[in-house]
Amino acid sequence: MKLLEYKAKELFDKYGIRTPAGIVIDKLDKTNHALESREDSDLEGLSQKLENLDYPVVVKAQVQVGGRGKAGGVRFADTPEEARNICIQLLHSNLKGFIVKELLIVKKVSGIKEWYVSITLDRGNKVPMIIFSSHGGVDIEETAITDPDKIVKIGIDPFIGIEDHIVHYIIDKSDIGMAYFDEMNDLLKKLYRVFIESDCLLAEINPLIVTEDHQIIAADGKVDIDDSALFRQQDILAFRDKLQEDPLILDARKFRLLYIPINPEGDIAVMSNGSGMIMSCIDLITKKSMSVGAALDLGGGCTADRIYEGIRILLSNPRIKTLFISIFGGITRCDEVANGVSQAVKHLDSSKTIVIRIEGTNKEEGLKIIEGIQGNIISVDSIREGVKVLYDLQISNNSSVS
Ligand code: GDP
Ligand code: MN
Repeated sequence: MKLLEYKAKELFDKYGIRTPAGIVIDKLDKTNHALESREDSDLEGLSQKLENLDYPVVVKAQVQVGGRGKAGGVRFADTPEEARNICIQLLHSNLKGFIVKELLIVKKVSGIKEWYVSITLDRGNKVPMIIFSSHGGVDIEETAITDPDKIVKIGIDPFIGIEDHIVHYIIDKSDIGMAYFDEMNDLLKKLYRVFIESDCLLAEINPLIVTEDHQIIAADGKVDIDDSALFRQQDILAFRDKLQEDPLILDARKFRLLYIPINPEGDIAVMSNGSGMIMSCIDLITKKSMSVGAALDLGGGCTADRIYEGIRILLSNPRIKTLFISIFGGITRCDEVANGVSQAVKHLDSSKTIVIRIEGTNKEEGLKIIEGIQGNIISVDSIREGVKVLYDLQISNNSSVS
């Protein structure tokens, strides 16, 4: 799970990593409306908050995507008035496909250099790895391609952690100068603790701004927490629940199901086990000019109960008229799937059609159960055949409407 910048900053603060002081602005639901009548009480609250900041500041859109700076989501303001105008422009705007619901406003750090540092998981060597570059900032991706020598990588033995020689190596290779040893030593050790103790897949700071008096300050933070470890990261779980996510995503998550909203206009839902199969189904359906509204990934070893819940969640979306289920049973057994579908057909909206294809373990038993289901259900033998049935249904639906 990727954290928003302000949450990453909170984590860094907790570990004593230096970050600029700031505030988070949210819940300005009336901002759009306030564009016309600037007297809105929420905005009065905003003005007051902005008056109290130390200028210049940086106003930063909180969206879970990189490259905000280049997309206009990171803006500088010298006065409260300027900051206020930027807030009004940015809040509720669409930044790279994400609606901006929160802003982080921090004191602008004035620096002489921008560095890059991250700790990530080196899956090949099965160790955490530090990546450092003295050429950080918004062009780091380009540097990685054009100037790979400017990027230093070093693995950390998890039984030992970060020792002085690691810090020496990074400083030496990147040529930033031994004067930064204490700062770098302190920062890397703290960031490593964040990485380990918060079960991170990535803990990144870009840019690390170097000030004139040789302090280094984390001016941006990107943290990705391993979803499998979230059960022991209560604080992060609480943060996740606070993000105003689609209620169907939250509902699905309770049953360890992954609900994926796709096209809000789409009237077909896809349910399958595994992202590859889901993508194939969506591709084939879309190729036939039909539109998928949502998909649901069951993951492995699905029981009848979870199948039932998955169907319930997908069909609870009123736009969805047809559900395509494609299951390859390995650990998942087709009879178990069919039982779940049978329960669903009995209890759920009968005006919707289910097209189902099952393959693999206990297929024959599964097919027998499906044959016995009384309701709007069509059994097919392949994804292609299923897509053809969806297409025919679509045509007959359209002609019955007109
Ligand atoms: P990103 O584009 O999503 O990675 O957003 P960042 O928070 O990294 O901001 C983009 C760029 O704006 C950074 O690489 C910096 O060059 C610049 N920037 C952001 N905050 C500050 C700051 O406090 N001081 C200065 N001098 N530059 C900043
Ligand atoms: Mn950045």
